[in-house]
Amino acid sequence: MPRILIVEDEPDVAFGLTEDLTRHGYETEVAGDGEQGVQQGCSGRFDLILLDVMLPRIDGFEVCRELRRRRINVPIILLTAKTHESEKVLGLELGADDYITKPFSLRELRARIKARLRQPAAEQPNVVRFGDCVLDFSRAELSRNQKPMELTPTEYRLLKVFVENQGRVLTRQQLIDSVWDRGTFITDRVVDTHVWSLRKKIEDNPSEPRCLHAVRGIGYRFDLLTQP
Ligand code: CA
Repeated sequence: MPRILIVEDEPDVAFGLTEDLTRHGYETEVAGDGEQGVQQGCSGRFDLILLDVMLPRIDGFEVCRELRRRRINVPIILLTAKTHESEKVLGLELGADDYITKPFSLRELRARIKARLRQPAAEQPNVVRFGDCVLDFSRAELSRNQKPMELTPTEYRLLKVFVENQGRVLTRQQLIDSVWDRGTFITDRVVDTHVWSLRKKIEDNPSEPRCLHAVRGIGYRFDLLTQP
């Protein structure tokens, strides 16, 4: 049974989450504030952490930062009441894997949890298929409908980061940090330009992408579609 830590100060919300998740086969524990959240989160007993952002004393962002600083690598999903995009960006950059905005449906939350738990932390396979493309990591080659596609080094690195983080929203800053050399000055615009040129190579219709989606105000998400 996967174990989930719920860091939430509102008893009603915590109770509702506990009930629903228990009924769907998860084992749960509740931490009522940020300090407890860090303490219990560090225990190594959990497979995933649901973390409310608005907590008394230490807020969810701080908890997230602290857990990552202590090398706790389990997936963290932020529960945010705020719709400000800057907050979501901040959460992702502090090391959260996903966020969901309150009020959310329990069904959607379970789907997110499932997706996070499914993602293996283990090594990447050598060959990944998506849409009508095949990406071969061992040869750094992309082919589409059996025809080799020419990628620039930046496009290849970008695609690799997307594939390795499939299903996850990446901010432009995260892309800049993982694709470009440190100290290079890269604007969001430059990221968008490279994403667009990559889209033209992997999507049938780059304006209506099936794999490489823009997430408004935040960044991009890559979905691995196995069926073309
Ligand atoms: Ca709260």
